[in-house]
Amino acid sequence: MQLDDTTLFRQQAFVDGQWLDADSGATLEVLNPASNDALGTVPRMGAEETRRAVAAAERALPAWRSLTAKERAQKLRRWYELIMMHQDDLGRLMTLEQGKPLAEAKGEITYAASFIEWFAEEAKRVYGDTIPAHQGDKRIIVIKQPIGVCAAITPWNFPAAMITRKAGPALAAGCTLVVKPASQTPFSALALAELADRAGIPKGVLNVITGSAGDIGNELTANPAVRKISFTGSTEIGARLMAQSAPGIKKVSLELGGNAPFIVFDDADLDEAVKGALASKYRNAGQTCVCVNRIYVQDGVYDAFAEKFKAAVAGLQVGNGLDDGVEIGPLIDDRATGKVREHIDDALSRGAELALGGKAHSLGGSYFEPTVLVNVPHDAKVAKEETFGPLAPLFRFSDEAEAIALANDTEFGLASYFYARDLSRVFRVAEALEYGMVGINTGLISTEVAPFGGVKSSGLGREGSKYGIDDYLEMKYLCLGL
Ligand code: ADP
Repeated sequence: MQLDDTTLFRQQAFVDGQWLDADSGATLEVLNPASNDALGTVPRMGAEETRRAVAAAERALPAWRSLTAKERAQKLRRWYELIMMHQDDLGRLMTLEQGKPLAEAKGEITYAASFIEWFAEEAKRVYGDTIPAHQGDKRIIVIKQPIGVCAAITPWNFPAAMITRKAGPALAAGCTLVVKPASQTPFSALALAELADRAGIPKGVLNVITGSAGDIGNELTANPAVRKISFTGSTEIGARLMAQSAPGIKKVSLELGGNAPFIVFDDADLDEAVKGALASKYRNAGQTCVCVNRIYVQDGVYDAFAEKFKAAVAGLQVGNGLDDGVEIGPLIDDRATGKVREHIDDALSRGAELALGGKAHSLGGSYFEPTVLVNVPHDAKVAKEETFGPLAPLFRFSDEAEAIALANDTEFGLASYFYARDLSRVFRVAEALEYGMVGINTGLISTEVAPFGGVKSSGLGREGSKYGIDDYLEMKYLCLGL
């Protein structure tokens, strides 16, 4: 692996400040999705190693939560600086294991680091409250304390940011953490652990274990020492983890699937709408939970938008993420391309028309052509399910009420987008969309300063912003009799 700092490439798990193999010595191979070549291996750990990681986090907890917020913040700040200092290597490592273009990977490192920086600052602002008492001889005070040992299970589409978005607030609040990264992209997680260690974050405070998702997930949800589970991934696995967490009444934060609508009204700036749709649909080759899944265009501008959008998509450059100018890398694996294929075939069989792309890319492997479908019927699978790939289906609508009804006709409620200029319409539609996030005249909404999260089957809790740290804190009410 060509990195400036080769010690960032770790092929062992990080537990209690030590780099470890699985007890059995078993490993998992990690592939480069651009070539299917093996990049290396990580330990295939299970329940026993998970128990030890939780025990390490439990041992580290009393000292970590007893530090002042400023002391924790200084270590987190150092971690942030080290991540930014190694941005090139971390970006390269990410492109190798995940496939996204290098510029996007480096952008993710900046985004990932921003959560550490932000929560290092927020750590110092975990204010309590005093409440006017209900009786003259009482005083009421509210304090906030870390929940305790937390666990994070994270996906492959953002191998760094989905970890820091949890580790930042958890560690800032005074919690300790066991992270289980996705098996497709563990090297980014292990490199972050190496940098946390260099930053002086004490042993046991941040642990990264790799291996069997089922065995590790079962142990993390069953282990009574774990007080909170934070998960980003599919709704199916999120629901399972929530059910597994129920007997132990563990807190859960869930960032799950989306099915983002993107509505273009007659009064929209069409060129801006095309730019927004392109950015939101094709980022990470369509593999983000806030990627546009369904594009609804009003009758009056449908044909004009379709033409401009198709021309823009035709200009996207597909290739190996390490090559200059590439905008779309390979999908993560064959299962991902299978889902895109299935949604295209289903829509075509119901009468949609293919405007662009539609098949596996000539580069082979898991590369797929950026695809545009027009006149897609509302009963197509792609209207109901998240594609997670480079497919943009264009649907037609005639009035505002219809657009809102179509947009809300889903179990999901993560991100939504619309383009319009009429101010009354902007407020009406923004308030009517049943989503945790609404992008208005923009296709890019993610930032560490705003609350990210969904409603309905898209999840529980918010990450980032001044609210994000609350997910890792308990409120305690002190009633003082005088
Ligand atoms: P995706 O389909 O995008 O890979 P998943 O929800 O399957 O999303 O995976 C997200 C994360 O959840 C990954 O880290 C994966 O290893 C983990 N995971 C998958 N199955 C389980 C399970 N049964 N218990 C705990 N974690 C799981």
